[in-house]
This record gives sequence, structure tokens and C-alpha cells, in this order.
Amino acid sequence: MKTFCGRANPTTGSMEWLEEGEDYDYHQEIARSRYADMLHDKDRNVKYYQGIRAAVSRVKERGEKAIVLDIGTGTGLLSMMAASAGADFCYAIEVFKPMANAAVKIVEKNGFSDKIKVINKHSTEVTVGPDGDMQCRANILVTELFDTELIGEGALPTYEHAHKYLVQEGCEAVPHRATVYVQLVESRRMWSWKKLFPVHVEAEDGEKILVPPSEMENCPGVPSVCDIQLNQMPSSDFITLSDVITMFSVDFSKPVQSASTYYRVQLEPVKSGKAQIVLSWWDIDMDPSGKINCTMAPYWVKTTSALQWRDHWMQCVYFLPREEPVLQGEKLYLTACRDEYSVWYNLQKAREGENEADEEEHKADVRVESPVCRCRAHLLWNRPRFGQLNDQSRTRQYIRSLRKVLKTDSVCLCISDGSLLPVLAHYLGAKQVQCMQPSRIDLYHPHFFKANHLEDKIKIIEARPELLKPSHLEDKKISVLVGEPFFTTSLLPWHNLYFWYARTAVSTHLASNVTVLPQSASLHMMIVEFQDLWRIRSPCGTCEGFDVQTMDDMIKDSLNFRESKEAEPHPLWEYPCKSLSDPQEVLTFDFTKTVPQQCLSTEGSVKLLRKGKSHGAVLWMEYHLAADISVSTGLMQLSNEKGNCEWNPHCKQAVYFFSSVIESEILSDPTAVTYAIKFDTKTGEIAMDFKM
Ligand code: SAH
Repeated sequence: MKTFCGRANPTTGSMEWLEEGEDYDYHQEIARSRYADMLHDKDRNVKYYQGIRAAVSRVKERGEKAIVLDIGTGTGLLSMMAASAGADFCYAIEVFKPMANAAVKIVEKNGFSDKIKVINKHSTEVTVGPDGDMQCRANILVTELFDTELIGEGALPTYEHAHKYLVQEGCEAVPHRATVYVQLVESRRMWSWKKLFPVHVEAEDGEKILVPPSEMENCPGVPSVCDIQLNQMPSSDFITLSDVITMFSVDFSKPVQSASTYYRVQLEPVKSGKAQIVLSWWDIDMDPSGKINCTMAPYWVKTTSALQWRDHWMQCVYFLPREEPVLQGEKLYLTACRDEYSVWYNLQKAREGENEADEEEHKADVRVESPVCRCRAHLLWNRPRFGQLNDQSRTRQYIRSLRKVLKTDSVCLCISDGSLLPVLAHYLGAKQVQCMQPSRIDLYHPHFFKANHLEDKIKIIEARPELLKPSHLEDKKISVLVGEPFFTTSLLPWHNLYFWYARTAVSTHLASNVTVLPQSASLHMMIVEFQDLWRIRSPCGTCEGFDVQTMDDMIKDSLNFRESKEAEPHPLWEYPCKSLSDPQEVLTFDFTKTVPQQCLSTEGSVKLLRKGKSHGAVLWMEYHLAADISVSTGLMQLSNEKGNCEWNPHCKQAVYFFSSVIESEILSDPTAVTYAIKFDTKTGEIAMDFKM
């Protein structure tokens, strides 16, 4: 069997469909899966075990046999917990075939084959009866089908179906209940992920202010969840305007309804401010009494016990459709709307002299349709990209460098997706400005240019770089070629080197004395010890006494599937690490020249300066815009004493996990790491290898 996998080609900036063996998809799925992270989540595991033991005892106390249904068994962990807690029989359902196979092996290895039946089906396909998958309905329902938004992985329809067809009335459920909490906040930092702020430019003829089209003001944005490690957001970056509010709960031991609905609470701000963001997280009670509780509450809410680090459950950031000034103590209504898979929020002010009888009237105002972007910008820019475009110090660097290179007779072409550079170039006096957005259909920019009366000033070229014709440029040669560079199809930092390929493709249109901005780029690397991120790729061995090595081996195989392992993108501002080496420049890319035929490669060794576990290498790009002006998409600051790193908050960096993490080897204090890094100019990819 062959499958087709979509992948952006970094040499053409466009999506290509590659034929891959059946294994490919499966290895990708396993290698990037969250199973290891879940197995390392001690707090979750301990509480599930406690909850399962309590549920089995309650059933036994009633004199019944304990028949367990475990939907989404993964490794079989929760079924094995149930079996060792004394359950009479477990039906372990798993839809993902490789996992179901692994569960069979793990269950066997741990000696539970006679108590646990693994069924490789989606739960809605499971049959009950003498000839069915299950002999009878279960009286204990165990699942772990939750994502950061609680319902995004389809927990509600799965529960709805299970209650109708697979479990007895009055069954025990572990978890018993989930509760969603919210807090209303003002945060310029998070709001900058939703809205473009005005950009101020000191032009020759006075200050210019670049504004977003008015539709953006009330645009609800896109429905996709914004899940982040909120524990990495310093308290100085937001102002809490309300207490923590219980928004809604789901009781999993009763029939569950998945149809769209909404929940509304009244609240009074504890502070006046601008309501912009709803922060949200959930907790699960493993038993009806609520004594066994597993919570995702962030650091400022949960102060009692140590926080459990986990990446499979984080916290959510919801953006209100528009910013709302609120006063301390005034009456507000916050509405959570949800469909089967996602949640969104609305804030309304109570009307003068309103009382409960007016409730009904408000209901009519509740917007239950899911958010749809009306301003088109949210279809073009994702949240980190909004943040990047709103980063004023970054914009200043571009303005400073453009000012150095632009002249009044400049013919300027900008190649980058959804960029503000063409506008900046125009304001800074370029005679002719054109732009090309190779990997994106952009419905927003025409709008944006119009809102700023620039529609006649900046021309959008609808051709790809290799198809550029002199007529597109009004028969002029390009004297200034600019790029951020940024392309929406890029996954890893070096994929933005597509700018170099595009520059090569338009070579014949460049004036002999052309200025290219950035003039060059460099790849940088540093060896780090992660505080927690290493867990997502590290084997677990045993989990709460159960041998899950089969799973570890499977993940290891998938990570080593290709002859050389791959680096993976992670936004490191969310994942603290300590540098063990100095940052090092490893490759440079000269944009004033065309892409060479031969590969660029380098070898060397990095000295380890600090004690610590070498978990991996972090790699990022820096762009040299003009003499003395550079922007980094990775390291922003390094404190020399402890090696604490500050990362660019709008970019993902590349992380290459060393085999010491994947194999869980204990290394005796290495003093250096040797590396071999190769940029393949034919594919635009970077291959690397490291040795201690
Ligand atoms: N129970 C395991 C794994 C949880 S991950 C543990 O707690 O460690 C969730 C698993 O559920 C995934 O393997 C996914 O493939 C599976 N899954 C999700 N919805 C399902 C459904 N409706 N029927 C069967 N499997 C499902």
C-alpha cells in the first residue's frame, strides 16, 4: 500500500504530494504522538489509578461483577489498572491499529490476556450481545479522550454513543466529571495574536500610520483552539479582570449530549480594564466526591502543590470578538458556546435595571454559530504571525534597514507571504513597489491596501517567481529585492530559505547593482538541557508498575525510521531550557548570490561549558538585513551565569533530540559534542548528526 503525503517543498515554496510507503504515515503518527508524554504524566496516572480502584470497589460493594469499558485504550494502561484493581473483565477499545496491536502485546506481557479483550474498532462500531464484541453492557466506563480544550478529540459524541449502546444505566465513570474554568483578562501580548495594531512609520513627509481594515475590529477570528503552556506566561503580561469562574461541567456517569449548546454565567469584574481574552482550563474529578482531582489550573491559581508538567493537556486562550471596556463591579454575562468539538466565547453587558426576567431576551442575543473570519486576515496570518507583525522592535529593524537601502528611484520587489514590507518600502520612498506572495492565496492584502489608500501604489504580482516577466515589472529591473523572509508553508526555520530560491528564480530581472535585503542568513546552533520537553521523546519503561516497554520500542523505531533522524519544530518560549554550550554559527547563506549547485556542509565540535544533561541541539536562523542590523528567529538573550535562554516568542525553533534522550542512556559527563550538518541545495532540507 502507498499513501500520499502533503509536504511543502522548501525549494519551490509550494505543496507537493509525495508517494510514501504505508509505513511512513504510521511512523510519523507514532514518532510525533503524545503517548510518551501521557505515560510520563505521573499526576494523571496516579489519579486515574485511584479513581479506577474506587469505582471497582463501589461496584463490588453492590455485589455486582465489575465489567469495564475502556474507550481509547492506547497502550492498555487504564484497562490494566482496572484488571489489577479487581475488575472481572475489561473491553479495551482502540481505533488506531498500530496502537491496538501494541496494546495486545503489552496486555499479554503484563499477564492480563484473560481479563482484557482488545478490540481494534472505533467505539461507535462496537457491538454488544452473545455474538458481539462485548458479551454485555459494561458497568464501569473508563476513558481518556480529552484534549486541552476538553472536547476537541470528540469525547462528547463518543460518550453520547457509549451511554446509549455500550454501558448500563447508572454506570460508574472514571473520570466522573469534568469542569471548565475561565478567567477574563486584559493582555496586550495575547491580544496581539488576534489583531493587527497600527504601525507607525516616520516617513520623509511626516508620520504615517498603517491601519488594519475596519472589519478586523469586530472580526471573531477563526474557531481553531489556541492552546499554550500558560505557565510560561509571566503575570506581568496580563491583568486578571475577573475571579476564576466555573463555566460548565459534564457528568460522564449520565447520558451525555453532544449537540451544540451554550452556557452563560454572570460576573462582576474585580478590576476595570479592557476585556480581550478568556483564559480557560479544566479539571477532572476521578470520583463522585471530587476528592481525586486532576487539574490544569495555571500557576497563579494553583498554589498548593507542585505543578505537573505535561504537553498533552495545556491551557486555552480564547479571543473575544472585540475588545470591551469593563468597569469594576458592573454586571456582565459571559457565554461559552460549543458545538461537538470546539468552544468559543462572547461577553455581553447587562442592560440598565435588568433582572432575571430579562434572561430570555438575552438568549436571543447568543451567537451560537462558530466564529468565521470576516476580515480575511485570520485566514492569512496565524496567531504567532500576528504577534510577529505586531512586534514593534522587529518592525523598527526592518524600517532602519530599508531606510539604509532605499532610494527615491528604487524599484522594489518584495517576496514574502502576508508581509508589511511593501507598505514600509512605499512609505520610506521607493518609487515603485511590487510584491509576490508565492505560497498563499491572499484575499486580505487588496483590502488592507485599500484601507490605507495604497491600492494604486503597490502592485500585487500574481505570478510565481520563476514565471516573472519583464511586463510585470513595467519593463524595469529590480534595484531592491526584499523579504522578511517568511512563508506560511515553512515548518522548520530553514524552510524560509525559499527566499533564496525565489531570488535565484528572478535573477534575470535584477539590476546589476541590486541590493538584496536580507543580504544573508545564518544557521545557529546550541546544545541545551530542557527542563521538561525531553519527556515527550524519552522512554518510560514502567508506568505505575506496568511494563510499557513495547510502546517505548515502537516510538524509538519510528523516531529512527529514516536513516537520519529529523529535527522537529517547537516554540521554545513555552519550553524552558538551559544552554550547555555557547551559541554557534554553523552555516551561512549568501543571498547576494544564487543558490549554489553543491551542498553546503559543515562539521565540528561544540564545547560543553555547563554541567547538565545534553538533551539535544536547538537550531534557528538569523537574517542579516543590512550592515549591523540582524534579526533572530531563535535566541534573543542568554544569561551567562546560569545559561537561561530567552527565545523569540513568535517563531518555532528546530529541536534535534539526541539519542541519549531517545535511548534513555546515562552519559558520563561529556565535554564536547561533535556535529555534521548538511544543507542539501537540491531539496532545501538540512540533515544532521551528533555524537557525544
Ligand atoms: N487510554 C490511554 C490512551 C489515551 S490516548 C491512556 O490513558 O494512556 C486516546 C486514545 O484513544 C488514542 O489512542 C486514540 O486513537 C483512541 N480513541 C479516541 N477516540 C476513540 C474512539 N471513539 N474509539 C476508539 N478509540 C478511540
